[in-house]
Amino acid sequence: MKILITGGAGFIGSAVVRHIINHTNDEVINVDKLTYAGNLESLKAESQNARYNFRKVDICDGVALLNVFNEFQPDAVMHLAAESHVDRSITGPSEFVQTNVVGTYALLEASRQYWAALDADKKQAFRFHHISTDEVYGDLPHPDETSGELPLFTEETPYAPSSPYSSTKAASDHLVRAWGRTYGLPIVVTNCSNNYGPYHFPEKLIPLIISNALEGKPLPIYGKGDQIRDWLYVEDHARALYTVVTQAKTGTTYNIGGHNEKQNLEVVHKVCELLDELRPKETSYAQQITYVADRPGHDRRYAIDASKIERDLGWKPQESFESGLRKTVQWYLDNQQWVEHVKSGAYQNWIEQNYEKRS
Ligand code: NAD
Repeated sequence: MKILITGGAGFIGSAVVRHIINHTNDEVINVDKLTYAGNLESLKAESQNARYNFRKVDICDGVALLNVFNEFQPDAVMHLAAESHVDRSITGPSEFVQTNVVGTYALLEASRQYWAALDADKKQAFRFHHISTDEVYGDLPHPDETSGELPLFTEETPYAPSSPYSSTKAASDHLVRAWGRTYGLPIVVTNCSNNYGPYHFPEKLIPLIISNALEGKPLPIYGKGDQIRDWLYVEDHARALYTVVTQAKTGTTYNIGGHNEKQNLEVVHKVCELLDELRPKETSYAQQITYVADRPGHDRRYAIDASKIERDLGWKPQESFESGLRKTVQWYLDNQQWVEHVKSGAYQNWIEQNYEKRS
């Protein structure tokens, strides 16, 4: 099978590429614009494999996309390319509308044009897999607000996105389903909870805390830090995505989650405890915790009911939050150079100076 992956140089996309190259015989075509969040250093080993291909393409560029489709003749698309950071979407929503909405539209149109010309068997087997977030559902009641039962997001939960990021992802989910219903494009959609693990850009909570802690900087906590997120180890997500793209029936939606509801403050304390153990210093890293003004519109609780994918496709997370977090902290301690490169912009400079010349 040949799989065209958009956003394969990002955090989750690179985990999907590693999974496919290292655990299957499939071929990958990684299509990525290499924004600040895309990093080919995350695929150093895999890029040496003959089954790995890369094209530096903006998903908003329909002509370039169609050229990639025609060149590689993929059997499936896994669409992960997106602007993904909620804080950046609040200060600069325009890029989010462009990539997440217009880019998804351009990719759907290129996919449709390519798919329509396939022979009947290939046409039926083709999949357009859209990778999305549980943030499209808005937020759930928090234990502070109710003494009743705490509901979970199911595949039937109505959409109620709160941020520019989640609203553009909701829009892209709707576009994908409309292309399935109106044009018959064989689509599947997955909505996943918060991921964590290696190769995560150090602007997101867990890598930011590790990075700031090691540099002796404040560990910023929004509001009281009581927001609840459901954490999933990124390799479990990559395995779920491969299971869905290869096995799910066309038109289906699956929620993917780790059954790990944690308050942000609890997560930060756990990271500090691990650092205290693995990289001890005179005082605990927890002393660097600093409370900052809450994010506008901050969702209070997310939690996923992942029973449908477990029942239909037999997927389950393998990593507990404790073991996954330990692996993650150890990875950041062992890979400081990767962190330095993405933070200092050295990698971006390298791309501009070397890659642009070669392409
Ligand atoms: P990321 O920001 O780490 O990576 C995004 C990738 O997309 C980067 O490699 C970037 O260069 C690329 N990209 C951005 N704009 C592009 C464009 N116009 N054309 C081509 N490539 C472009 O994101 P991530 O955390 O890996 O998330 C991947 C997907 O999974 C996103 O669609 C996101 O909404 C979804 N998701 C993320 C999480 C999470 O916890 N990170 C959870 C659920 C769903």
